[in-house]
Amino acid sequence: MPISDHFIQNRLLKELSTFGIGGPAKYFVEVKQISDMQKILSYCNENLVPYFILGKGSNSLFDDRGFDGLVISNKIDFLHKSEDLCRHVGAGYSFSLLGNQTARQGLSGLEFASGIPGSIGGAIFMNAGANGRETCESLIEVDYVTPEGELVHLKKSELEFRYRYSSFQKMKGAIVGAKFVLTPSGSAREKQLKIIDYRKKTQPYNAKSAGCVFRNPDCGAAGALIDQSQLKGASIGGAQVSSVHANFVINTGNATALEVLELIKLISKTVHEKTGVELESEVRLIPYKMDSG
Ligand SMILES: Cc1cc2nc3c(=O)[nH]c(=O)nc-3n(C[C@H](O)[C@H](O)[C@H](O)COP(=O)(O)OP(=O)(O)OC[C@H]3O[C@@H](n4cnc5c(N)ncnc54)[C@H](O)[C@@H]3O)c2cc1C
Repeated sequence: MPISDHFIQNRLLKELSTFGIGGPAKYFVEVKQISDMQKILSYCNENLVPYFILGKGSNSLFDDRGFDGLVISNKIDFLHKSEDLCRHVGAGYSFSLLGNQTARQGLSGLEFASGIPGSIGGAIFMNAGANGRETCESLIEVDYVTPEGELVHLKKSELEFRYRYSSFQKMKGAIVGAKFVLTPSGSAREKQLKIIDYRKKTQPYNAKSAGCVFRNPDCGAAGALIDQSQLKGASIGGAQVSSVHANFVINTGNATALEVLELIKLISKTVHEKTGVELESEVRLIPYKMDSG
């Protein structure tokens, strides 16, 4: 059976994003095996099909019209204990779960992942971080399928990582797995529990959102600048600046992507006028049409 026979049509993206926003994907497929990811990327490459690799949709804002191409949902979720201190994980595995499990096993390095609702692939792509730690710190290697469908293993030294940035943001293939190395610690579990507790107290944890909308500028926390600009509670349609954490835009019900984008513009403009600081978006805006090349 050709791989394209597994594609389904018109899957609603709002059901696959923590923002709860987005129209239908023209084509959609769930991938559970690395070999299937290889076949699909090679098919898209040969047939010039534009595609988007989806993790858990917790940092993506889809267009109200949806996506005019193939959305590839990464569900490759193996977990191997390669050595006592190493974990080899599928890119579709929950980042938060890995943080909880390793902390419970007395291993330190990923406690901060607890409560970040993304996949391993999304965390590496974004170099997700919290509590002064970043994903790249305990990462040693990434399994990656090139746009031509070849599986390669990239050492951390071959990649670039900075604040909420990884080389993958300039690449077109799929992260399919990763190896992390952790350190033994008697206090990892306690630290992880404190992190999740603090997160639940300081973030609108159960609201529909994509986490922090803006990167923190060099001069401090974006949330503090937004709060200082008296924007907590400001809204456009169903999109609202959270009154719990000012760097979160929440979907109060039926917000559209357009309303979220308008609110993001309003926040940037107001913060710039009041504080002189230019804020930069952290959320990935996924256009309706994407280049297939
Ligand atoms: C309540 C809440 C709290 C949050 N807290 C934090 C936080 O503390 N720190 C933080 O950094 N972020 C936070 N986030 C944002 C988000 O969870 C992270 O950025 C997370 O790493 C995104 O992972 P994902 O799998 O959901 O990515 P998605 O939204 O699915 O994708 C994001 C980008 O990564 C790409 N991508 C995903 N998987 C792959 C893959 N396998 N191969 C290639 N590209 C891929 C996508 O194409 C897309 O461009 C929060 C979000 C929410 C909703």
